[in-house]
Parts: sequence; structure tokens; C-alpha cells
Amino acid sequence: MDNIEFSLTPEFAHKMDQDDPLRDFRNKFYIPEKNGKQVIYFCGNSLGLQPRSVSDYLSKDLEKWAKKGVDGHFEGDVPWIDARKPSKAQLANLLGASELEVVAMNSLSVNLHLLMVSFYRPKGKKYKILTEAGAFPSDQYILESQVKYHGFSPDKAIIEAKPRPNEHVLRTEDILELIRSHKDDLALIMFSGVQYYTGQLFDMNAISKEAKANNIIVGFDLAHAVGNIPLQLHDWGVDFATWCSYKYLNSGPGNVSGIFVHQKYSNDNQLPRFAGWWGHNEEERFKMEKGFKHMQGADGWLVSNDNVLGLAAHQASLDLFAKAGIENLRRKSQLLTSYLEFAIRETISDTNSLEIITPLKPTDRGCQLSLLIQNKGKRVFDFWIEKDVVADWRNPNVIRLAPTPMYNSFQDVYEFSQILKNSLND
Ligand SMILES: *Cc1c(COP(=O)(O)O)cnc(C)c1O
Repeated sequence: MDNIEFSLTPEFAHKMDQDDPLRDFRNKFYIPEKNGKQVIYFCGNSLGLQPRSVSDYLSKDLEKWAKKGVDGHFEGDVPWIDARKPSKAQLANLLGASELEVVAMNSLSVNLHLLMVSFYRPKGKKYKILTEAGAFPSDQYILESQVKYHGFSPDKAIIEAKPRPNEHVLRTEDILELIRSHKDDLALIMFSGVQYYTGQLFDMNAISKEAKANNIIVGFDLAHAVGNIPLQLHDWGVDFATWCSYKYLNSGPGNVSGIFVHQKYSNDNQLPRFAGWWGHNEEERFKMEKGFKHMQGADGWLVSNDNVLGLAAHQASLDLFAKAGIENLRRKSQLLTSYLEFAIRETISDTNSLEIITPLKPTDRGCQLSLLIQNKGKRVFDFWIEKDVVADWRNPNVIRLAPTPMYNSFQDVYEFSQILKNSLND
């Protein structure tokens, strides 16, 4: 990370913004306002802001629909039957994959189920799944229902990696040790890339390598990692992954998810899958014949036809990522999150009342800090809301702050520190 000595003054924050090569991207987004003033938006980990270009992208398809009706499927720059294709180049870049390995489709929880149909293949003693304790609830329900579907009890079949006593995050060595000690009974390792609650970035490379060395399938939920952390899924040897596009990818509420399936499965006829017409060989799709023949690569997992309007908004955002560059975003992100950490430390004298549970090493986290506030946490949080800070509260007592490099500024962090100071004195 760049070696910069921080200082908590408006002048310093201003200078950092001036020197930020990505400073113009903030103007490419709508920043929500309250009381006639822009809020301090630290909630890009929950819903990314709207790029100003979205409505142009959308109106092209709305106009095409108005003017051409059903012919839009086969006409225009991008016929709707190919609507998902333009997103592949940028998704491949963000995920560290080839275009064959990625596709945008469905929503995240649905995709995780579809992928587990193919990649959770319990056999004899090897039927267990290793995951992190405290995973996002949807992921917990998905694993639970999948193991039940195969006739196992979740208590026995799901192994949860837990932090050591008095620690908040997992140590990589402990995860790897768990994999080794359960190598004979694990069918699948299913982890998040960045943990939604603690903000911990897991060492996906090390986890995948250990999984592969022990002949175990490995998948990741990248909801909080995509658009936040540069990824190298192909080289890490990850078998499959899925993510959503409405958090750091700024594609709009509930918008399309994406999947990664490693190239080694691109022609695999043996894997079971829940098929639909859009995953069928596209040369023959409209013959409407019996007998499913899957497309190569990730497209072979498609079920339904493409969500054209959703993909238009998705593309608007991906084009901004292509311009900004994920490596540049990561560089700024490490600075901005470290500045927030610095600002919190400078402001808080009593570290007993507020603890940062996110790893303190910038390489072990993305752009989120999770604060554990012991006593009056909810009161502090409510004070921030009154002062137009948008963050989020996660029971029982954690506040998550996500300074997002695409549109947050160093000034946001400085202003937040002043509100933090007042909220604690309140
Ligand atoms: C946001 C998030 C989800 C949400 O799932 P949807 O299917 O998009 O509603 C699931 N899992 C994780 C880890 C998340 O962060």
C-alpha cells in the first residue's frame, strides 16, 4: 500500500481527494440527498449507488421494445437473444476468468442452488460441507436445504469454521487445518470471499489450493468480493462461484447475479444440472427439439432467457469498472479504508466501547470496517442517521461502514469522523 502519513484535518482530506486519480467517478453517480445535502453514503456493501448513465442504457432497450416489439430479439446492435454477451468481457476481467467461464443470470441465491446441484455430489463417507460460521443467512438456508435434500442432517453434514476464543475473524492456518483434518469426509468447501459481517477477506487462493490437494470441490459466494477485490478465480483453481451485482457492482436493486464455472467443466456431460432452454446449444435452440445438449462453459448453466432490462443497467456499471480499473479501485480502497480506520482511532479515546472487528491488515479486508459497539451502540447509530450518515446496523451490536472507492471521498471520511466524535459525547 502507498506509504502516506495520514492526518485528520479537512485540508489533508481535501488534498487526498485532489490527488485521487479516480476522483471524477463520484460525479458519475447519483449521491442521495437529505435535507438538501448529500448524505455520507457508506452502504455500497448493501446497495451500490446508481450510475447516472443507467437511464441512457435502459432507454435504448425501452425504445427498441417500443419500436420493434418481438423483433428486438433478433435485431439491433445487440439482439436480445445475446443480451448477456456484452457483459462477459468485463465480468471475466473482474473475476479473473475467461469469457467462457462467466455468465450473468438469475439471482444469487437461485444460482447457488443451481450450482450446488452440479457441484455438491456427496458420495459414501464424503458428504460434508465446510463453511464459515455466521455465514449470510441465505447461504446458511441454502446449505441446510441442500444437505437435507440429499437425506443428511445439517448438524452432521455442515462443518463450520469458527474463530478462536476471543477472536473475531478466522485464521487461514486454522481453515487449512480443518480442511486437512476432514479431507476424508468433505464433499464441498463453500465459503464467502469477503465475509459480510466481519468484512474479512479470505485467502481464496490458499483455500482452493488446499481443497484441490485433497480432492475436494471448492466454491465461493462473492457477493461482497466482486467489484471490491481483484479476483483470479481461474488461476486459483476455484471450481465455481456466484455473486450479486447490486452491492459493489452498482447494478440496481435485485439485479442480475453471475456465475463462474471453471473451464475444466466446460464440456462436462457427466455433471448433473437443472436444465432450461437457454442453456441448450444455441445453434439448435429454436429447433424446439427433445434432448438437452448444454452450451459450452458457464452458459451451459443458463435456464431462462436473458433479463434484458436488468442487463442494460448492469452494463452501464460494468463500463464504469472498465474505465476505472479494478486494480486502481483496490489501491484507492486500501487508502480510503485505512484513512477511515485512522480517523476512528484518532477520534475514539476509549477503545473499550468501540472495537473494529474487521482485520486490521489492509490485505485481509476489502472496503468495509465493522465496528462492535458494546453499550450504547444503537443510540450512536441513530445519531448518525440523524446526521445523514448512511451505514448499516447488524444485530446484535455491529455497525458496518463501507467507504466505496468508486464514489466515496476522503472528505466523506473526515466529515464522518466529526459526526462520530459528537455521537460519542452525546
Ligand atoms: C447479499 C447477499 C445475498 C443475497 O442473496 P439474493 O439472492 O441476491 O437475495 C446472499 N448471500 C450473501 C453472502 C450476500 O452477501
